[in-house]
Amino acid sequence: MLVAEKTISFEQVSLLYDRAADRLGMPQGIRQMLREPWRELQVQVPVRMDDGRIEVFAGYRVQHNGARGPYKGGVRFHPDADLEEVRALAALMTWKTTLLDLPFGGSKGSVQCDPSSLSNGELNRLTRRYTLNIEHLLAPNRDIPAPDLGTNAQTMAWMMDAYGQLHGHTPAIVTGKPVEMGGSLGREAATGRGVSFLLEEAAKALRLSHVDATVVVQGCGNVGSWTARLVDELGYKVVAISNLEGGVYNAKGLKLSHMTENRPAGSGLSGLPNGDFITNSELLELDCDVLIPAAIDNVITEENAPNVRASRILEAANHPLTPEADDILAQRGTVVLPDILVNAGGVVVSYFEWSQNLQEFRWEEDRVNQELRKKMSTAFQAINRRSLADKTTYREAAFDIAVERVARAVELRGFV
Ligand code: NAD
Repeated sequence: MLVAEKTISFEQVSLLYDRAADRLGMPQGIRQMLREPWRELQVQVPVRMDDGRIEVFAGYRVQHNGARGPYKGGVRFHPDADLEEVRALAALMTWKTTLLDLPFGGSKGSVQCDPSSLSNGELNRLTRRYTLNIEHLLAPNRDIPAPDLGTNAQTMAWMMDAYGQLHGHTPAIVTGKPVEMGGSLGREAATGRGVSFLLEEAAKALRLSHVDATVVVQGCGNVGSWTARLVDELGYKVVAISNLEGGVYNAKGLKLSHMTENRPAGSGLSGLPNGDFITNSELLELDCDVLIPAAIDNVITEENAPNVRASRILEAANHPLTPEADDILAQRGTVVLPDILVNAGGVVVSYFEWSQNLQEFRWEEDRVNQELRKKMSTAFQAINRRSLADKTTYREAAFDIAVERVARAVELRGFV
């Protein structure tokens, strides 16, 4: 499913960084180093199509910052995933891996193509050509790709195989692989599970009780569907959920066991539980205790932010609030837990996958989930302490912690 209709710009992400650099009083040189990507590569990706033609796609890999460890970030196959978008997503990865205290930097890659219009064979050839063209930047201790929009576990198996043809069997070169090829147990649910762990950990600080609190989830793909089901298991009342076509609402709580598939987009509302139809814009403005946007970026803007009635927002999607919307909501006292914390469960379990691959040892799923819970709790407590001490929003506290840690790593390395 391709969901990146509105793209995140590098300027939007940099604004959050610039504000943190201002608060921290960062000197000019280091400030510039941490703002701009360390390295950007653009490659040609020619593919022999099934009908014999050669089609040439553009591919990118952006390595934003590697001061704290190997670059880590997904590969997106999408027609709109240009250099500008990849650059923004690479920077977000730096702040996310750092906030979760993973031994990684941040990167992102893409091929500008519509995977839904390509055959399996064409996708396999495209993935291999892309991998070979960026291969000199990759290694388990240099840069480790993962799936993102338009790519999946199969894509990672092809990338691993292409890399392995040059370097020998190297499962730690990508994460998000099929479990049979060295993927981690628990990876599929990891992002949604991370959201639910976070909600449990933050409930006291957010003055929430699972007994009577209502939750609205936008999006019913990998993140939205796992989040809704796991939050429901915690006892919260999920009153609305949606996909691309719209959503369903039931003030008494939806029966999520009736949600039959993870990715009902394209199938109308048939995969969703029973409830009254609502549009996506109505869903975002529902009166509820917790709103969890888990679909796409920039859905809450300066236009609809004044109508958002939820008092707490958990950003499970990447960048669902524009900076203008964020400012409006902060002034109104709406508590927002930021994307670089909320949806970090995926990259945390990617880190566990990489660790397991390096050791050639598989963890039980219970261990994966327990370690994920610890990582999410520790990160939330750090942000909570920082935001109370500095009287900042959670987003500001998250960026301050991450930017400070990366600056410290650059300083300790002493390479400038
Ligand atoms: P997905 O493709 O599995 O699901 C996306 C969902 O959003 C689908 O239900 C789709 O119908 C819905 N949707 C698409 N366009 C929409 C629109 N215009 N309005 C309302 N709903 C719309 O994607 P996903 O993997 O669940 O990712 C969702 C978000 O979470 C993205 O922002 C992604 O970058 C972010 N994220 C995902 C992961 C992960 O592990 N999958 C990790 C971190 C962040």
